[in-house]
Amino acid sequence: IQKIIIETLYKEHDLSDKDLIWLIDNIDNKGKKLLFEKSKSLRDKYYGKKVYLRGLIEFTNYCKRECRYCGINAYNKKAVRYRLTKEEILECCENGRKLGYSTFVLQGGEDSYFKDEVMVDIVKSIKKKYKGCAVTLSIGERSYESYKVLREAGVDRFLLRHETVNEELYRWLHPKSKFETRKNCLLNLKKLGYQTGAGFMVGLPWYTTKDYVGDLRFIKNLQAEMVGIGPYITHEDTSMKDYKSGDLETTILMLSLVRMLLPKVLLPATTALGTISKDGRKAGLDVGCNVIMPNLSPENHRKDYSLYNNKKSSGSESAQALKLIVDEIEKYGYKCDMARGDSKMLDSSI
Ligand code: SAM
Repeated sequence: IQKIIIETLYKEHDLSDKDLIWLIDNIDNKGKKLLFEKSKSLRDKYYGKKVYLRGLIEFTNYCKRECRYCGINAYNKKAVRYRLTKEEILECCENGRKLGYSTFVLQGGEDSYFKDEVMVDIVKSIKKKYKGCAVTLSIGERSYESYKVLREAGVDRFLLRHETVNEELYRWLHPKSKFETRKNCLLNLKKLGYQTGAGFMVGLPWYTTKDYVGDLRFIKNLQAEMVGIGPYITHEDTSMKDYKSGDLETTILMLSLVRMLLPKVLLPATTALGTISKDGRKAGLDVGCNVIMPNLSPENHRKDYSLYNNKKSSGSESAQALKLIVDEIEKYGYKCDMARGDSKMLDSSI
């Protein structure tokens, strides 16, 4: 029966919630082998063996939010705060461009310093200097108007994980925030024509199969062009320090299911995946991931962007170590691609 369900999912790129729940709860090793082969073949169909590299710039760890799981949340007094200047951000892009990167992902905490005018100036400078490059922002919740001026300034993509569709858990994880607001932000991003990224953490406390299926359904309904999924990893200086991290196996299963539901999605093998297991990145690529975001941030600040314990930012997680990255990816049988790599979901002819 699992074979029939997997074949249906492969053909129709959808399943009823009931069948998804059944599959997650009952899939065995034989079923996983088939599922992973299928999800990988969908990635190959639309993107071949290409793995897009993006330069990640973690430009501020100041954050006004209260996310219980996150090492840079506003209440963590132990976090050593930093904020890059416009010149420093441009220097990161310059280093990236010299290496061949053509997508810059600017990620940060929700830092009130970076008002619309400041962000617009930074984005316009990047777009002017590096013609044809793509800019992705991951700077949290903002108003429709704010997303609109940023889009008009030239931002191409926006990553905003929805984190979880379980509203009760969402409230516990973010006591001052609402899932509804996060969801509306994502709808606004879509409306404004951003390539929009949603996503969730695997292994949050009390998580059930129904919650995972809710997350998958949310992503499918949104028609997210990008999906960020990684394990939740405990940070010792947060109030969740006693909760255990998510595991590789469930994360891989979720990545594979996302590729099956949205075959043309851009799907990163995340840093968190590479942090929980040395084979995490390979495992992600082998079930259909096609993006890697090496770190381009200034080395002296990398350890301070500490979202969770032992977060990797050196070796092949470092954008500068391009040869290491290319060698690793090629060893796994893939090919690094440093083009903009827009989502094929924008191209309705394929
Ligand atoms: N502030 C922006 C936002 O909220 O979208 C972007 C930065 S935020 C640190 C980026 C992502 O890191 C979050 O969406 C969350 O899923 C992930 N993250 C934070 N803490 C984590 C943890 N302890 N383990 C795994 N992922 C974590």
